Amino acid sequence: MKNHSNFSAPTLAIAAVAAFAFLSACGQREPDTRMQSFSWPAMGTVAEFSMRTDGVTAERAQKLATNAFSLVETNLSVFVADSAVSRLNKGETIRLASDSPLANVARFARETAEASGGAFDPTVNPLMRAWGFRGGTPSVPSGITLSNALESVGWRRLSIGSAASEETIISAGGAELDFGAIAKGFAVDLAYEKLVASGFTDFLINLGGNIRVCGSPEPGRTDWNIAVRDPSGRHPPSPLPRPLRGGEAVATSGSYERFVEIEGHRYSHIIDPRTGIPVDNGLGSVSVIAPTAMMADAYSTTLFVLGREAGAAFLSAYPSCTAVFIGQ
Ligand code: ADP
Ligand code: MG
Repeated sequence: MKNHSNFSAPTLAIAAVAAFAFLSACGQREPDTRMQSFSWPAMGTVAEFSMRTDGVTAERAQKLATNAFSLVETNLSVFVADSAVSRLNKGETIRLASDSPLANVARFARETAEASGGAFDPTVNPLMRAWGFRGGTPSVPSGITLSNALESVGWRRLSIGSAASEETIISAGGAELDFGAIAKGFAVDLAYEKLVASGFTDFLINLGGNIRVCGSPEPGRTDWNIAVRDPSGRHPPSPLPRPLRGGEAVATSGSYERFVEIEGHRYSHIIDPRTGIPVDNGLGSVSVIAPTAMMADAYSTTLFVLGREAGAAFLSAYPSCTAVFIGQ
């Protein structure tokens, strides 16, 4: 049985990433640098950084990215007892800077919930618990357990107001916030911005299948070829429908890495908040290309819940995004 919680669960084993980059080794290389790729554990998954550089610079990049991930984790993890999200979940109302990680993530999570008719819902945690994703022995919840959990789920309870333009006031309204479907994407964007601000230009950053690229992978090329793993493992990875341009992101959500197994049946860690049941719509994974990693992360989870048809309809409102649906 594989029972993985969302990011930063203390006991979480390192999961293989859901998507990876093909970094072509052919073509012209600068004489003193080569494409370096290295990975390390972060936010309950694997972080990967690739760029053409010497080891010293790569080390500096890793430090910047790690700091960004830690900042997101200390603010947003439900596994950190005094994180801002944990305090919200205990009923506190929090005032914070409008450009802070939590304010950004909470705003975008609420917008996505509203736009998706509740398919994306950052208050889904009681359902995760009911199915055994938060410890204990996974089992199919009874009707009463499920309806109790469903009663405490609802993105409309999350209230986000502003005292002044630079200050945001957030309360969970009695719901339990869980930004597991969006926080890693945001963390990648934060790392990306810190790296760019520090002068890094041509790189790829990947946090558990949430990828953002900057600049070009090699001299003379402007785009990055990314391949997505086949969820069934039966076929080789397939390329995205188009390469990524510098600045773009892609995220993959799937049921093949994180799930619980109950009586031989695998239940996805992505739950349809409208029914309380783990998604089982024939999809193995959904990848979304988007202008930011937070958008790609939130929308790949949303599309996984909505399925092919409703997912494509949802995404048509976002012309800068492209989706890839892969069956089980
Ligand atoms: P991963 O964490 O594997 O990258 P996702 O980004 O799709 O995958 O996020 C899945 C996590 O989001 C779950 O582990 C859970 O914490 C949370 N979640 C589950 N269902 C939903 C949903 N319908 N809407 C928003 N968040 C969800
Ligand atoms: Mg996601």
